Amino acid sequence: MASAAAAKSMVLFGADMLEREPVVAFVESSTCAGCLYCQKVCAYNAIERREVRDRQGNITNVIAFVNSSLCQGCGTCNATCPSKSIELIGFKDDQIFAQINAFAEV
Ligand code: SF4
Ligand code: SF4
Repeated sequence: MASAAAAKSMVLFGADMLEREPVVAFVESSTCAGCLYCQKVCAYNAIERREVRDRQGNITNVIAFVNSSLCQGCGTCNATCPSKSIELIGFKDDQIFAQINAFAEV
């Protein structure tokens, strides 16, 4: 098991460039309610809890934050967020739902 992980790491760091998903999720912090439903459904552990603090260090808000290097752009969080505060960069909600509806009609 450990040697398999080591082999994967060598392949990853042996490449000239690191590739990542071109489509990643983004949280609109001004409307995020901090419920973290998105974090629970993310299979890639790409969503972190972030505390917003005032100058005295008091927590004033809790929001979700997407680690774009882990995000795989699957869109599960987008479909889960009750306040529509997560979007996939490059895709608006209506575009995503149009794709889902097109797939459902096949
Ligand atoms: S589900 Fe939406 S409102 Fe809740 S923490 Fe995630 S982004 Fe914020
Ligand atoms: S798009 Fe998928 S991988 Fe990226 S944060 Fe949302 S649920 Fe996680």
